[in-house]
Amino acid sequence: MRIQKHIVVGAGLAGCLLAWRLEQAGQHVTLIGSTTLPNASQVAGGIINPVTGRWMTKSWGFDMLISHAAATYRELEQQFEIELYHPVPLIRYCRNSTDIKRMGRRMRNPRYANVLGEPIPEGDGPDSFEDTHGSFHIKQAAYVQLPLLLQTLREHFTQAGIFRDETFNHADLARQDPQWRYHDLQADHIIFSEGVGMQANPWFNWLPLTPAKGETLILECPTLDLPRAIYHHRKWLLPYGDHTFRLGATFDSDDASPEPTEAGARELLDDARSFIAPQHALTVKQHYAGLRPTTKDIRPFIGDHPTEAGLHIFNGLGSKGASLAPELIRQFLAHLLGGEALDPEIDIARFLDTTTHPPRTDATH
Ligand SMILES: Cc1cc2nc3c(=O)[nH]c(=O)nc-3n(C[C@H](O)[C@H](O)[C@H](O)COP(=O)(O)OP(=O)(O)OC[C@H]3O[C@@H](n4cnc5c(N)ncnc54)[C@H](O)[C@@H]3O)c2cc1C
Repeated sequence: MRIQKHIVVGAGLAGCLLAWRLEQAGQHVTLIGSTTLPNASQVAGGIINPVTGRWMTKSWGFDMLISHAAATYRELEQQFEIELYHPVPLIRYCRNSTDIKRMGRRMRNPRYANVLGEPIPEGDGPDSFEDTHGSFHIKQAAYVQLPLLLQTLREHFTQAGIFRDETFNHADLARQDPQWRYHDLQADHIIFSEGVGMQANPWFNWLPLTPAKGETLILECPTLDLPRAIYHHRKWLLPYGDHTFRLGATFDSDDASPEPTEAGARELLDDARSFIAPQHALTVKQHYAGLRPTTKDIRPFIGDHPTEAGLHIFNGLGSKGASLAPELIRQFLAHLLGGEALDPEIDIARFLDTTTHPPRTDATH
């Protein structure tokens, strides 16, 4: 494989994993990412849940994604001697009789056989939870400690001298045929993984990103003892085993600010109160917020700029970065380094309309 020079922009989950895989492939890579700009990965629960949403549907591509995700996180654990990947049972509570019927239908659908476990009759779950309609076991769930992953890889890249903790200034990127020049760097490929920062990217801001704000709380509750699992009622609750819990997450497409809000905390606590028995006093220890890089068609933005050779994007991981990133990075690098075609479902070429091609861009060079 030809060794080429790459600049990865954005040191969130996408950028860090991409840079790590490029390094492993023997490529020359520099990671430029600001640790002070908004960063969804830093505040995410890292939950991998195969059956999601109000309609309890199986996540897109789950069977293809999960084995590579698990293998990737295990590989990182081995290389850096850390614990990142925690497979845990997920208990999904039914909120009404419609939920029970829907789950019953899913149980009879063979597509769900590897992700749905047995129903749990009402009253058989932990006493601490409202349990009028029973619940279901969801299999193959896990959570990934994303902040630890970011910290570990950023430290690793810093030691290797290939991480620059700074804001990438798009105006300073210039073509120097056949490469690109950015300050003192020259590169064959620039891969943008800027999360919602993509909106300031003059080459890719034409893609239909629809950021969705999310807020989570870290709670403390000395009286709440729960078996190890993720509990999904109105919101999900992730016990860390030391009487602290992560409660998440809100979903708001109207607020584009990355700051935590009182309304977000209230929504989370009200929902927690509606399913956790009142004798358990909940104390808020931390409050986080971030912007998910969600997309209009709920598929990622991956691929090559239509006219500027060497500019690429890997973004749009939405609410599911933990499960999506590892396998999609594999596919993207097979395309970038091996010339394989991208799946049209993830390729940004799907947004190219012959009437507007090439898309209007406000890049000046
Ligand atoms: C509250 C909340 C809870 C979530 N929970 C889950 C969950 O349980 N499971 C799950 O799978 N996903 C979850 N997500 C979604 C998950 O966070 C995303 O899918 C994933 O982290 C996106 O990673 P990313 O690297 O694409 O973006 P980001 O993590 O946002 O990273 C982008 C990075 O680019 C940097 N950047 C941007 N522009 C520039 C620039 N010009 N110069 C330098 N750096 C720049 C930013 O600083 C940032 O660090 C959650 C999100 C939120 C907000």
